[in-house]
Amino acid sequence: MNRAPGHMVTSSRAVRVVFLGPPGAGKGTQAKMLQERYGFRQISTGDMLRANVARGTALGLEAKAFMDAGGLVPDDVIVGMMEGELGSAAGSTGSSFILDGFPRTVGQAVSLDEMLQRMGLPLTAVLLFDADRDTLVARLTGRWTNPRSGRTYHAVFNPPKTAGIDDDDGEPLVQRHDDTRDVVLDRLATYDEKTKPLIDYYAGTGLLERIDGLGAIDEVTGAVFGALDLPAGTEPA
Ligand code: AMP
Repeated sequence: MNRAPGHMVTSSRAVRVVFLGPPGAGKGTQAKMLQERYGFRQISTGDMLRANVARGTALGLEAKAFMDAGGLVPDDVIVGMMEGELGSAAGSTGSSFILDGFPRTVGQAVSLDEMLQRMGLPLTAVLLFDADRDTLVARLTGRWTNPRSGRTYHAVFNPPKTAGIDDDDGEPLVQRHDDTRDVVLDRLATYDEKTKPLIDYYAGTGLLERIDGLGAIDEVTGAVFGALDLPAGTEPA
């Protein structure tokens, strides 16, 4: 693991990026890496929804059935949730953020454009992570997650030092209900049907860059830093 606590690098440019790609392509892992290295805020709609489910909020109750079935939570629910989140992101964390798992439909992308235009904070990049289907299924079905922080491990590709325990904070790891094989196949079908059209949507903006998500975590991190033109060194810039 290449995290270096205390070695956060400052970037002089704002980075407002969408991480696009199928479940299991590495979006969350890489977003956490960027958050730790540069302090950019990871905004993960999946993590936000799971926190609502865990707290038993009305939003969580509404979202749970869609999530358990590998489908998408309706756009109005997601867009309402993101309005509040992006408003606070603009105020409290400077203007850099990583959108991880949002937008997932063309309707959400249009709403996002409107929100960011209102806030005067346009996207600076869209990274498309990709990997073949067998790899995605293997990654998701072997994944162990810290439900509190969203940090993930893999039983084979990225195991924690002690099985079932997060290296970072000692919290117990769980297997997400929707990381079972049947739900994973439904999530991948949902991606193909609802989210893939975003590739064309963003291709026209000139912001889209492809990232090969097949490599080891560190290799993919290098590609992400390169695509975002960020210094990869551990010393503060
Ligand atoms: P993730 O952790 O990103 O894989 O998200 C887990 C689940 O939350 C997804 O399978 C969806 O059911 C739901 N979800 C997360 N983000 C969105 C979104 N932007 N739009 C609709 N549903 C979402």
